[in-house]
Amino acid sequence: MSRPAAPAASPFRAQVPGGFSELAPGVHLWRSIVNSTVIVGRDAIAVIDTQVNRAAAGRLLTAIRGRFRQPVRWAVNTHYHWDHTNGNQLFADAGAVIVQGERTVHATATRQDRQKAFLRSRGFDLDPDPRPHDRTAEELGAIDLGGVTLELHRGHDAETADPTLVWVRESRVLCAGDTVMTGSFPILGQPNQREGFENEDWFAALAQVRDFAPVAVAPGHGPAADAGALDLFERTLRWIRDATVAEHAAGRPLAEAIARIEATLPDWIRTMSEVWGTPRYAVLRVWCGLADLGEPGFMHAKPPALPPARAPLPAAADIAGWREAGEQALEGGDPGLAAACAGALRDRWPDDADALAAAAELWLQASRSLRSVLEKGDCLRPALDALDRALAIEPGHGRARIARARSRILPALRSGDPTAGAEADLDRAADDHRLGARDHAEIHWLRGLARRARGDEDGASACLRRALRSDPGFAPALLALR
Ligand SMILES: [Zn+2]
Repeated sequence: MSRPAAPAASPFRAQVPGGFSELAPGVHLWRSIVNSTVIVGRDAIAVIDTQVNRAAAGRLLTAIRGRFRQPVRWAVNTHYHWDHTNGNQLFADAGAVIVQGERTVHATATRQDRQKAFLRSRGFDLDPDPRPHDRTAEELGAIDLGGVTLELHRGHDAETADPTLVWVRESRVLCAGDTVMTGSFPILGQPNQREGFENEDWFAALAQVRDFAPVAVAPGHGPAADAGALDLFERTLRWIRDATVAEHAAGRPLAEAIARIEATLPDWIRTMSEVWGTPRYAVLRVWCGLADLGEPGFMHAKPPALPPARAPLPAAADIAGWREAGEQALEGGDPGLAAACAGALRDRWPDDADALAAAAELWLQASRSLRSVLEKGDCLRPALDALDRALAIEPGHGRARIARARSRILPALRSGDPTAGAEADLDRAADDHRLGARDHAEIHWLRGLARRARGDEDGASACLRRALRSDPGFAPALLALR
């Protein structure tokens, strides 16, 4: 697939993930925000984990067909989490048999609702539920691709209590799913269950991984793991687990334990990048196994992601005053105060579309100070709720539609997710006669970035130039063209 490159210096370039690296002959790791492994035999192909959504699964399937001639006959889920199962339908439609371990079949049935509630709380758009399995790993035992054999093994409890390990016998590669994660601070599990991690289970699972003596391990997230990466991962788990157990044993309350652990993280953890997981989520996961938090999961016990406001809440008189106070807080590097101003706008004018749109803008901007896509949900969820409410009150509210479109299109530059709904918002926004030249420039700019996200660089340039005709000084369009 040829994709004309956006200017390399632009902060608004597309970085749609994907790409194969060969771990061993016939075993290819597809790196995206979540990994899939493509295993190619003489007669057939198996895909291990089916991607985070249908758009990502579609890119993977296209890449497979562009590179290999064998049909995709099998798709195996390493565990039930949505980021590993959402592409099942697409691979089933392409002729693959969907394979899950028995425990995954059970977890899918019993945990889907809580998983969806959690994802919604983090601001994710949800596809239809993943397609269920056709065969279980237990009834198959192994899969023959023609000269290449996949052994399906029951993994010890790790990130979840249902892992299936896929061992490629001839090339000695192990597909470990989320039992192993590399490249950023690990996710210790979505907080949609009470699984705990106060015990030795995950370490036993890593011993099981090492017992295979693999030449390479395909992790659920991050680059292929060698022995050093496995050691670092284990050391990270152990540090967090031991620190949390010690805080609990000392009788400290959860909030204090989190604050103390975050303040004493060693540099080798502090400097890890954060994509999904954070030390805070990891501490909460361990705590779940030590203390009764009253209900499943731990989101209800999680401290807010934003730091508290550094300055007292201002006493603004009207919507414009609160919006301005919030913008000043953002400029002054106080996203906690900006979020407090957003809350004030929503709470004082719950039926005013202007106030709700302004609140949403502040939350969306405050979310940029957070790195983890899970922690961003603290700002994204109230922002999206405020926008939905604003548009229920006034469906033609241009600023609300622009804000909602921006919250979808900017991430699409990194994810390649579809932007059709967001572009429909922009079309509708353009009809709002209250919008000024800068607003129209923003609409054209976002249309340009949506085209860029799907690889249409000519269309993107035309839209970005139109943005500059609306407002010649519109800096985001200048940057996007750079
Ligand atoms: Zn995962």
